[in-house]
Amino acid sequence: MTENAAVAEAEALVSEAAGNDAGASAEGPKFTLELNQDQKDIREWVHGFAENVVRPAAEEWDEREETPWPVIQEAAKIGLYSFEALGQFWSDETGLTLPIANEELFWGDAGIGMAIMGTSLAVAAIFGQGTPEQMGEWIPQCFGSADDPKVAAFCASEPDAGSDVSAIRTTAKYDEATDEWVINGQKAWATNGGIADVHVVIASVDRELRSRGHAAFVIPPGTKGCEQGAKVKKHGLRASHTADVHLDDCRIPGACLLGGKEKLDERLARVREGKRSKSQAAMQTFEASRPTVGAQALGIARAAYEYALEYAKEREQFGRAIVENQAIAFTLADMKLEIDAARLLVWRAAWMGRTGQKFENAEGSMSKLKAGEVAVWATERAIQILGGNGYTREYPVERMHRDAKIYTIFEGTSEIQRLVISRAISGVHVQ
Ligand SMILES: Cc1cc2nc3c(=O)[nH]c(=O)nc-3n(C[C@H](O)[C@H](O)[C@H](O)COP(=O)(O)OP(=O)(O)OC[C@H]3O[C@@H](n4cnc5c(N)ncnc54)[C@H](O)[C@@H]3O)c2cc1C
Repeated sequence: MTENAAVAEAEALVSEAAGNDAGASAEGPKFTLELNQDQKDIREWVHGFAENVVRPAAEEWDEREETPWPVIQEAAKIGLYSFEALGQFWSDETGLTLPIANEELFWGDAGIGMAIMGTSLAVAAIFGQGTPEQMGEWIPQCFGSADDPKVAAFCASEPDAGSDVSAIRTTAKYDEATDEWVINGQKAWATNGGIADVHVVIASVDRELRSRGHAAFVIPPGTKGCEQGAKVKKHGLRASHTADVHLDDCRIPGACLLGGKEKLDERLARVREGKRSKSQAAMQTFEASRPTVGAQALGIARAAYEYALEYAKEREQFGRAIVENQAIAFTLADMKLEIDAARLLVWRAAWMGRTGQKFENAEGSMSKLKAGEVAVWATERAIQILGGNGYTREYPVERMHRDAKIYTIFEGTSEIQRLVISRAISGVHVQ
């Protein structure tokens, strides 16, 4: 080693010991998984609501298969169901507060959690695509007031357009004479469909352009021609209302096109000229929203794990607690391991989305895929640990298992997530 090299190495060692290495800033190391006080306070606040209000109501609303309006009202009263709360969760610069709040709420119960959070799908569309005026007008109406809360619906899927959103048949035609859009079509499986005040609808303005000819519209409360179709009877998430929505010659003001007509015309002209569309931008938006959905699945998985752990310590067979058997204890160890691994993926993707990192490997899809599959697996294992009791409606884990299953289906099925990830990592248009 030359003298200069030795000096440089010594300096580096001293600098590292003093905490001045490349990975540390003046305020301390950059990377931390320690939550700050705001994040802890919000987690505790949402957890308290989930434990004291949501959990005790879970079984009743699952059996009733109805929207739990009294619980939504309670959430509105304490400010948890409001744009302000959603804005506060979202504004955390690390991106972690939104998944943390979702995990806690869905730990309480997923059906009621979705009844409370379903509105945020429509809000996200208005927030992502609307002008500032449209945000100011429609977002408050999605929530209503603390005394009279409302819900909102986001309607993209159709009977023949689920995974393949480009197959949407609902049309939007512009009527120049009246400056109105006329919407016709049928939407399927819309969370809060028909009971919402505000519906955000994806419709085609030029079917030849497939998904690049789509636009998002707000259907204002009470619009003629916007009706609820069949209400869906579901396997799980039964406290959350899901229904078809019929749109028959539904006339809405020109200003209800999210983003405005000028922007749409410019975009369509670009696409017709064969220029690149902004589908890449849309993909980045999906990637950013997926960890929130993953966090909901995590909440269910964690609830089932905690219940199974306590049960295994109490339940005795062969003269000892069943947790003393490796078969049970190792299953619980694997459940904890998988849940924590999924949470790390969710937090990574949430952080990437909020800090504007590029999703090179579809990290958002990875987080939703992993969390959804862990939730299905962990809730099934929880039933196994509870044995016969696990299979009955006297114990909550069978409900958690039914609720968990939707997380491998909606917001992009597991197969579609794998498609997105495989395309991202290979650069090949995998079919
Ligand atoms: C409870 C619930 C709530 C919902 N809420 C909403 C909502 O609020 N708004 C909304 O717009 N939609 C909503 N949906 C619809 C949901 O997003 C769709 O069900 C989902 O996208 C899947 O579409 P699909 O059901 O038509 O399945 P399909 O697309 O018909 O898929 C069927 C199967 O084929 C697989 N498959 C399809 N294409 C491929 C492929 N290329 N490669 C490999 N496998 C493939 C799928 O993964 C799946 O396993 C909701 C659905 C449910 C059940």
